[in-house]
Amino acid sequence: MTTSHLYTRAYGAAPAGLWSAPGRVNLIGEHTDYNNGLVMPFAIDARAHMAVGRAAGQEVKVVSAQQDFTVHSFRLDEIQQGSPSARGWPGYVYGAIWALREAGYPLAGGLNIAIDSSVPVGAGLSSSAALECVTTLAVSQLMGIDLTQRDVALLSQKAENDFVGMPCGLMDQMASSACTAGNVLFFDVQAQTTEQVPFDTAAAGLSLLVIDTHVHHQLADGEYAKRRQSCEQAAAELGVPFLRAVDLAGLDAALAQLSDDVLRRRTRHIVTENARVAQTVELLRARRFDGVGQLMVDSHASMRDDFEISDPALDLAVEVSLDAGAAGARMTGGGFGGSAIALVETDRAESLSAAVRAAFAAQGRTAPTIRSVAPSEGARRDG
Ligand code: ADP
Ligand code: MG
Repeated sequence: MTTSHLYTRAYGAAPAGLWSAPGRVNLIGEHTDYNNGLVMPFAIDARAHMAVGRAAGQEVKVVSAQQDFTVHSFRLDEIQQGSPSARGWPGYVYGAIWALREAGYPLAGGLNIAIDSSVPVGAGLSSSAALECVTTLAVSQLMGIDLTQRDVALLSQKAENDFVGMPCGLMDQMASSACTAGNVLFFDVQAQTTEQVPFDTAAAGLSLLVIDTHVHHQLADGEYAKRRQSCEQAAAELGVPFLRAVDLAGLDAALAQLSDDVLRRRTRHIVTENARVAQTVELLRARRFDGVGQLMVDSHASMRDDFEISDPALDLAVEVSLDAGAAGARMTGGGFGGSAIALVETDRAESLSAAVRAAFAAQGRTAPTIRSVAPSEGARRDG
């Protein structure tokens, strides 16, 4: 069923417009965004689709094909932080509407919203940012509000931070809002600059595989917040606003100043990860893939050992991918489950996938879902 049909079935009328926003894969640069650092995500072709129309009255209704087609409804003035409208999945949608209103945009009248998303939930591919960004873009455009891609990302992040209550950085929303087909998005959070960097794996005879381990840890949000706190504490001990202020040359001196080993390891991950993103950008600007694989491998080791956000299924996916000939592999996204990515010669993609499936089966694990992805377009109006 298309979102348009879903809308008509739920609300008995045709929508005013159709929008979509993608999930993302992060090539490299993990947990660096909230440290004011560097990230390199790209949009994937899995997208959250949304049909929206105006309605009489003040009710804002939402329905999702992934959530039993149950219609949720709150009046505009009931969409408040900590209210029932913030509970469960509708909180991502109401949160984006709340963020628009908080930013001073005049919202009035009722809305009907229908959602159908192909971004797998909890796979580390940011189904939440896709949902927030499509809502921010759709509702703003329907109301005649003109937002930049950056504004869409910032309002969507505010929805997740302050309405849903997940203290994420800006990467996921920036990726969903501002990515373009064929490119990775080099986003420097401190400089607030973006650069579209060509990422044509096919021309290099390479494939980028996403290995969804289907592991989702309940702990994920709490552990994410703890990592963020550790980074903030380390920055405070070093007397800098963000860990971005420490570069590779200053790392040893910074480590010597920190009060405990956990903070030292968290800091080492952030500082070396920013350096790896910068090196990846240099290589890709020159359309070189040699060296990118090793940076991915180093990134994974840093996340596993220093930042401690990997898990056994992700480590297995990475190890088996490398044994099967991948140039590089790493977990992607916030961690504690979700997906790993592997960069591999296209000729070897099939045998690598078979090896990963066999290794998961041998350990009695749920079969992973493996797909090849290429950089796709960010949030847009579709009709
Ligand atoms: P992810 O890594 O996929 O972003 P999150 O836990 O951050 O994982 O976000 C997943 C949540 O987003 C889901 O539990 C649900 O509340 C919401 N969500 C994502 N996609 C949909 C959808 N198609 N319909 C309704 N809710 C969705
Ligand atoms: Mg998310």
